[in-house]
This record gives sequence, structure tokens and C-alpha cells, in this order.
Amino acid sequence: MSVRVVARIRPLLKLELERDVIVEAASSGNEPLGSPSVIRIPNPKSDTESFSFQFNSVYAQEATQQDIFDNEVAPTVKHLFNGFDVTLFAYGVTGTGKTHTMRGGKTLAERGVIPRLLSSIYRRSRKIEKDTAGTTEVQVSMSYYEIYNDRVYDLFEPPEKRTPAGLPIRDNNGKSMVVGLTERPCTSLKDFELLYDQANVNRSTSATKLNAHSSRSHAILCVKLSQATDTHVRISTASAIDLAGSEDNRRTDNNKERLVESSNINKSLFVLAQCVEAISKKQPRIPYRESKMTRILSLGQNNGLTVMILNLAPVRSYHLDTLSSLNFANRTKKIEVREIENEPFFRIVAKPADEALCGVRPMTGSA
Ligand code: ADP
Ligand code: MG
Repeated sequence: MSVRVVARIRPLLKLELERDVIVEAASSGNEPLGSPSVIRIPNPKSDTESFSFQFNSVYAQEATQQDIFDNEVAPTVKHLFNGFDVTLFAYGVTGTGKTHTMRGGKTLAERGVIPRLLSSIYRRSRKIEKDTAGTTEVQVSMSYYEIYNDRVYDLFEPPEKRTPAGLPIRDNNGKSMVVGLTERPCTSLKDFELLYDQANVNRSTSATKLNAHSSRSHAILCVKLSQATDTHVRISTASAIDLAGSEDNRRTDNNKERLVESSNINKSLFVLAQCVEAISKKQPRIPYRESKMTRILSLGQNNGLTVMILNLAPVRSYHLDTLSSLNFANRTKKIEVREIENEPFFRIVAKPADEALCGVRPMTGSA
């Protein structure tokens, strides 16, 4: 099973003009009517030539949040309940709609895939509990952290309480996990939204101290699903990742390749690109360990079902950065992922006082 890669073109923003649109959804001719799978973009060196990139699916400017959820995320929920881990991540230049896609806006229609995913998980949980007459108990908990400058910060901790060095990562059974993360149970969508909003405030308050913080940090949400019967517990994790902006900050003008030495492309995204390159060329050594984000994402290792949403702006001012994300996505779609089912494990029959410990497995960073 390879990583599913889908592209989404965001609509024009207020100050953007129709005549500057250069990125288009096109059809390859093989897909069902009205469901494009090709992105077309001009060659920056010659406007009469264009490049085409084929993905699993392509969403044009008018696609809604509901479309993205229904087609790309809803189908993964069944797998999650069957014991597989799920990873969803948004990749793209700052300003292309990653946060809009993952988190979304306040209104019902604008809600992103994350709140929709949770809503779907709760609905399915209630159904399972009802169908099994309460003999299966489903529990949901979450942890939420960001990686900034290769440091891991718990988003449930207010910024002033964080240790500057961040939290360590350890390997456990082949999975990389963050040590010392807060894990919060959330029993309903309301519960979840409260915690999620509060954590997002923690994310943005630190932004006042550091310039353009949120476009340079990766936000990683892990939702742990635990399904318990009298004898067994099965745990699976859904991870939803809003990556840092992929733009090359050395370039100040997207139309000319003028490079400025001072700032640099986000190092972890650079390592990610190297990992993707190494995997796609089947090289023996994949440099996962060179950044915390790549360790956690472990693309192509054991992250179960993986969907990457490539966010794109339609206009010319993003031209070179759009091309470089398209090239990255093109290599990513060749990555094979192993789908490993999380085996149910025996529930330790404990004294009532130990009840809380039953079936609790450490939260893993990646799914
Ligand atoms: P990123 O997280 O990639 O930097 P944002 O999600 O913040 O980008 O999006 C940039 C701007 O574009 C925001 O104002 C956002 O509301 C708007 N936007 C992005 N995608 C859409 C969309 N599909 N529909 C409407 N507005 C969008
Ligand atoms: Mg964002």
C-alpha cells in the first residue's frame, strides 16, 4: 500500500486576481467524470509549456471541507476501528490552506478534517457500544504537541511552563514516541473541541515571541482510540499533522531565483525531502534520525494508512515554491507503507485500584 497523495487548490483570496491563476485541476481521461487527478502548472522558464502531475485525487478551488473529509478521511475511520493506525498530514507553502484543511474555521461548513474526524469517531464509538450492548467500551484520548526548531513542546502546557529544551523522543518497539506528553481523555466532541481550542491558544501565544512561529512549526495531534472488552483491549492511533510551511525562505521573489543567505528552508522539511528521496530510490540508509519530525513521521516505516494532502495556492506569486512542493509530492506517492494491525492484547485483570492502568499503552508520536 502506498501513501495516498491528494492535492487541494485553495480558492483565490481577496487581493488575488483571476488573471494570475496558473495552477489548474485537470483530468487524465481515466477517472470518473468530474473527478480530476492531474495538476497542471506552467514551466516557469516558458509559459507555453506546462508540467502535469498525477495524484490519487485532485481538488479544485471550489471543493468543500465536506468533500475532502468524505473522500479522504471518512474511509480511514473504519480502518482505525479495525486496529490500524492512520496518519493524515498537510504539506504545502505557508498561505496555501494547510491549517484551513486540518483545523478549519468556526462555522459548521468550515470545520476542517480534524473536528470532522473526531465527530465521526464518536459517532462510531456510540454505535459500537450500542450494538454490543455495552460490552465493548470505547475510549478516546488525545495528545497534541508541536515541533519547533527541532524541539518538541507539549501544547497542553502553557508556553511559560515549557522547558526550553523540549521533550525527548525515545524508540519503543520500532515506534518513536515523545516522552512525558500530556494525554487527555476526551469523552465527547465538545470535550475534544474545548481541549483542542485551548491547546491552539497555547500554540498561538508563543507566536508573539517568535516571528512567524506557526508557519515554522509542525503541529501534531494524536488521537488514541481504545476499544476494550472484558478480556481484550485494542488500541490504535490517528495522527493529524499540520506541517510547517515548505517555502524556501532563501528566496524572496518567487519569480526570480534570487537567494538570500540569511534564513534557510526549514531543516526538518529538508530532511523529510531527503528521506522521501532515499526511500523512492530504495537507498539502504534513510536519514530519519536527522530531525525529530522525520523520526516521528517515519514515513514508509510503520505508520499504517497514510494520506498526504498537498495544499496549493493557485496564483503565480507561489510559482517556484508550488513546483517544488509538487515535485516533493510526486516522490512521496511512490512510498510504500506497511500496514500493521495493532493486535489486541489481553487485559490484565487488576484490583479495582489499578483499574486505571488497564490497557494503557504509552502514546506514540507517530501512528
Ligand atoms: P497555511 O496553514 O497553509 O499557512 P491557511 O490555512 O492559514 O494556510 O490559509 C491561508 C488563508 O487562505 C487563510 O485566510 C484561509 O482562511 C484561506 N483559505 C485556505 N484554504 C481555503 C479554502 N479552501 N476556502 C476558503 N479559504 C481558504
Ligand atoms: Mg497554518
